[in-house]
Amino acid sequence: MSKQIVVIGAGIGGLAAAIRLAAAGHSVTVFEALPRAGGKAGIAEHDGVTFDTGPTLLTMPEVFDDLFRAAGTSLAEQVRLVDPLPAFRYLWPDGAAVDLHRTPEASVAAVSAALGSRAGAEFERYLAYTKGIWEAANGTFVAGYAPTLGRLLRMGPATLAKFTKIDPMRSMKRAVDSFVSEPHLRDICLRFATYNGSDPRVAPATLNCIGWVELGLGGWGIDGGLYALVSALEATAKRLGVAFVYGQAVGKISKTGGRADGVVLQSGEAASADAVVVNADAAHLYRALLPDGTRPGQLLAPSTSGMTVVLRAEAQVKRAPHTVLFPSDYGHEFADMFDRGQAPEEPTLYLCAQSHAHGRSGWATAEPVFAMANAPAEPLDGETGAEGWVAFEARMLKRGIDAGLLSAGDAVVWRRSPRELAATFPDTRGALYGAASNDRFAAFRRPANSAPQLDGLFLASGSAHPGGGLPLCALSGRRAAVEAAAYLEQK
Ligand SMILES: Cc1cc2nc3c(=O)[nH]c(=O)nc-3n(C[C@H](O)[C@H](O)[C@H](O)COP(=O)(O)OP(=O)(O)OC[C@H]3O[C@@H](n4cnc5c(N)ncnc54)[C@H](O)[C@@H]3O)c2cc1C
Repeated sequence: MSKQIVVIGAGIGGLAAAIRLAAAGHSVTVFEALPRAGGKAGIAEHDGVTFDTGPTLLTMPEVFDDLFRAAGTSLAEQVRLVDPLPAFRYLWPDGAAVDLHRTPEASVAAVSAALGSRAGAEFERYLAYTKGIWEAANGTFVAGYAPTLGRLLRMGPATLAKFTKIDPMRSMKRAVDSFVSEPHLRDICLRFATYNGSDPRVAPATLNCIGWVELGLGGWGIDGGLYALVSALEATAKRLGVAFVYGQAVGKISKTGGRADGVVLQSGEAASADAVVVNADAAHLYRALLPDGTRPGQLLAPSTSGMTVVLRAEAQVKRAPHTVLFPSDYGHEFADMFDRGQAPEEPTLYLCAQSHAHGRSGWATAEPVFAMANAPAEPLDGETGAEGWVAFEARMLKRGIDAGLLSAGDAVVWRRSPRELAATFPDTRGALYGAASNDRFAAFRRPANSAPQLDGLFLASGSAHPGGGLPLCALSGRRAAVEAAAYLEQK
C-alpha cells in the first residue's frame, strides 16, 4: 500500500532515500531549504562558466549504480565516469613528488620510483592490509545495520572474527606507523583520515580502508562535473514521481502518540506523513526539528571543516586533475586543528583542476580550479571572525603560488569559509562530512538510521550511519529507506 513520506533535505542521503522509497511505490515529497538539490554537493556559476563547489572525487560508483538500478536505470546510462590521469599528485616543500594512479600496482611502482624501493614495498604491504579491512568491513559494517554491541554478539563467531580484522582497537596513525617508515608515504596514508574529517591520531585504524577504496577500487571524475550526478539523481527521483519543494525549510517534525506524523514548515504550513526521513544533520534534528518533549540523541563531534574557493586560473599552468601540497610537518596540521582548535599555520593545499578531472569547460584562457584547506569545525578558539578566514585563505593560496601551481593573477570567483558553510547547513558547525570518527567506538555511537526517539523517524546523511562522503551518504539513504519500508509495512 502506498504511504506518504516526507524527506527533509535534498542532499545525497535524502535523494537516495527518496528514490528508493518512490521506487517501492510510496508517495514522496522532499522539502529542501536551499533553492536546489545536492546539499554540500553544490554548484555555482561565474561569467558563464559553472563549477562544482563541493565534492571533487567519486569513489565506490557501484553504490550509485545500485541506486539507479533500483529505479530501472544505471549509472552508465546517467553519467560518464572520467578516469583521472594521474589519480593524485602529491607534492612536498622539500621537492619530493609522487603521482598515484588508479590501480594499486601502478601506484606501488610510482612510490618505488619516487621514494625508493623500500617505500614501494611498504606501500604494497600497507595496501594489502587496507584491502583486508575493507573486505571484512564492507558488507557487514558499512552497508549493514548500524552496529550495536548486542547485534555484534548475536551475529556469531564469523562476524566477531571480521570485527577483529577491521583493526578497531588501535589508532589509524599507529597502524600507519607500523607499516610505513618513509615520512612522505606516511603523510599520504594519514591523509585518508581527512576523507572522513577525522584525526588519524585517535580515529580507529579501521579508517585505513579508505586508502583501499580510493587506490584499490578507484576514484573517478564525472564528465561535466560532479553536479551531473546530483542532476541525474534528481531527474530519476522526479521520473518516479517524487515531488521537490525548494526554498522551504522544515521547522519541526510533528507526532501523534509516539509516532512521527508529518512536518511543519518554517512558513507555518503543515504536511502529513506516515514516515519522515531526515537528511539534515543529526545535530539539527536534535536541536531544532524533534517534536517538543522528545529526547535528543547523543552526538559525535563534527568532522573537520574547510576553507574552499574556486579560482579563475590561468590555463597554461600544467596541472594534474588532483594535487595535494603537503606542509613541511603534517603532524602540526592535526595538532593545530584538533589540539589547539585553530586553522593550520601551514595548511595542506588541495587543488582540483575541474577541466582535467571532470572535463568541465572554462573561460577563454582560464579554467576553474577548486582549492581547499582543512580547518577545524566552527567555532574556532584561535582565529575567529571573518578576518581570520581571510588570512587563512591568503595563506593557503600563497602556498599554491609559491609552488607554481597557481598564478598571482588568478582570481577567486567563489569562496566559502567554514563560518559560511556552518551558516548554510544549520547546526553542522561547517563540518564537511557530518560527524567525525574520533574515537574507537564512534561507529557504535553514530546515530542509527531508525531514530530510537520516535517511531516513523529515519536518518539518512553523513552524520548518521555509516558516515560521510558521497557513497556512504547514498548507503545511509539506502538503509533509511529499507528500515522505513519495513516500518510502513507493519503500520
Ligand atoms: C567542499 C567539500 C568537498 C567534499 N569532497 C568530497 C569528495 O571529493 N568526495 C566525497 O565522496 N565526498 C566529499 N565531500 C563530502 C560530501 O559532499 C558529503 O558527505 C555529502 O554530499 C553530504 O550529503 P548528506 O546526505 O549528508 O546531505 P547534505 O549535503 O548535508 O545535505 C543536507 C540537505 O538538507 C537540507 N536541510 C537542512 N536542514 C533543513 C531543513 N530544516 N529543512 C529543509 N532542508 C534542510 C540542507 O539545505 C541540505 O541541502 C565534500 C564535501 C564538501 C563540502
